[in-house]
Amino acid sequence: MRLGQRVIRLLIQSEQIAGVELRGELLPAEQIILATPHTISRRLMKPHAPLRDTARELEQIGDRPICTVYLQYPTSTRLHCPVVGSLGTLSQWVFDRGLYGQRGLMAVVISGAGEHMQWNNEQLCERVRQELAAHFPHWPKPETHHIIREKRATFASIVNVNRHRPAARTAINGLWLAGDYTDVGLPATLEGAVRSGIESAQQVIRARRHSA
Ligand SMILES: Cc1cc2nc3c(=O)[nH]c(=O)nc-3n(C[C@H](O)[C@H](O)[C@H](O)COP(=O)(O)OP(=O)(O)OC[C@H]3O[C@@H](n4cnc5c(N)ncnc54)[C@H](O)[C@@H]3O)c2cc1C
Repeated sequence: MRLGQRVIRLLIQSEQIAGVELRGELLPAEQIILATPHTISRRLMKPHAPLRDTARELEQIGDRPICTVYLQYPTSTRLHCPVVGSLGTLSQWVFDRGLYGQRGLMAVVISGAGEHMQWNNEQLCERVRQELAAHFPHWPKPETHHIIREKRATFASIVNVNRHRPAARTAINGLWLAGDYTDVGLPATLEGAVRSGIESAQQVIRARRHSA
């Protein structure tokens, strides 16, 4: 286990994976499941000729942002259930973080691109605050706010994106791909990522049985 470390290079010899390079360390391995986001997988694969076609396909997959606005209300403020969806507003989902001990903290999630990504924090918070006030007129004003804008939060699940999504198996023996962006038939979801991880792990087990 090496936590908090980045793979900076795939080590490949004679079309067989040999390990990975971390900063200041080579880690040998006969089997590697590359479970990085598609942008990083693309970058790691591109220098290796047998993987270039897959890297080129990954270049066709775009990104979508997700913006989360955290509003801290007085600690007595609660949703009547852990999460609420909102239609016809910029705010899409409201999560009550009180469930995790952060009482009064509401996380408002806005998926996808839009002009809100260009607004400043004050504008965005004010809009979200007003939308929540319309749904929950009895709530007091939030005391503080915090915004996280993830520009490349997920891959873009657009028409025909499945054409570009790779299988778990790669052109390099012993190198497998896992992640929500692989060919699992679901949009960018936790479930897709888990299914993909299971699929890659099963393929590794099968390959090892085959070679034993
Ligand atoms: C704000 C937000 C809200 C979301 N909400 C939902 C939701 O409600 N429901 C849902 O189903 N999905 C949701 N998603 C999508 C979901 O999080 C992803 O689909 C899922 O996490 C993808 O899992 P993954 O394992 O493919 O990739 P990731 O979770 O992105 O994991 C990739 C890992 O690779 C690591 N990494 C990157 N570069 C390197 C490197 N060079 N070396 C080593 N490690 C590296 C990263 O640190 C990361 O830990 C949300 C995503 C975001 C950003």
